[in-house]
Amino acid sequence: MILSEVLQSATQALLRTRIDDASVEAELLLGRVLRVPRTQLYTEPERVLTSAETKHLWRLVQRRLDHEPTAYILGHCEFYGIDFCIDCHTFIPRPETELLVEKAMELAQRISHPGKQIIVADVGTGCGAIALSLALALPQAKIYATDISASALQVAGINCRRHGVNSQVELLQGNLLEPLPQPVDMIVANLPYIKNCEFKDLSPEVRNFEPTMALAGGEDGLDKIQQMLEQMPGKLNYKACFLLEIGQGQGGMVTSLIKNYFPQASIELIYDLGGIERVVKGILWEGVR
Ligand code: GLN
Repeated sequence: MILSEVLQSATQALLRTRIDDASVEAELLLGRVLRVPRTQLYTEPERVLTSAETKHLWRLVQRRLDHEPTAYILGHCEFYGIDFCIDCHTFIPRPETELLVEKAMELAQRISHPGKQIIVADVGTGCGAIALSLALALPQAKIYATDISASALQVAGINCRRHGVNSQVELLQGNLLEPLPQPVDMIVANLPYIKNCEFKDLSPEVRNFEPTMALAGGEDGLDKIQQMLEQMPGKLNYKACFLLEIGQGQGGMVTSLIKNYFPQASIELIYDLGGIERVVKGILWEGVR
């Protein structure tokens, strides 16, 4: 069969299982088999595929039909314009988390002083998406990236080496803030925040393939956020701030949680383009917002 026909039948198969963006996904999978960028597929529509190539493609298509996310099949994904290696031990970074990174960059610029290195902790780093994006944008910052999962940290280590930030980003295994060796100026975290009762509504891609540990936030979704707030005293410098990703509708509860632990904190809810409260910013000193 020729390339354009194979691509068409792979797309049809994905469409029948109601896979979103079926044609892009088919292109990505075929691009992987032929080791070419998906845009190049259209330059050789008449190319005759070998039977090994066709079989390989159908094995990948079958995995996608079984709801495995394409990012896991490819072992890669893009976040903040950066390519990340990922595997089944790491949550797939979501585009909505780019808002957290942007806000962290803005805040880091504001709290930086010439001659003073700012220290940031990315808590629950997974594949290192947030830590690395910040490291590349803020070469003067020191970044600690923690995760409880040693397997996730192995993937984060691969990404740090690939992007040349392995001396700037220090990977630490442990629960939330516990492994930090010194107080930090800024904490950024996309901790698990899915409520127990929401799990059944997640897509099979998320529920059956992504690490539950990276998603499950307990009864109200806030177990990990609360645990981290409990650990904060002693882990923060005098003038510190934090940015946390939250789920839809959690802004009020997270704000009151923060107020319990830090009554003096100045708290701001930041909305994403869809109008959903997505990031909570907490500043632990007066006069700056
Ligand atoms: N945004 C993710 C999702 O909807 C959840 C991320 C998280 O729990 N931190 O799948």
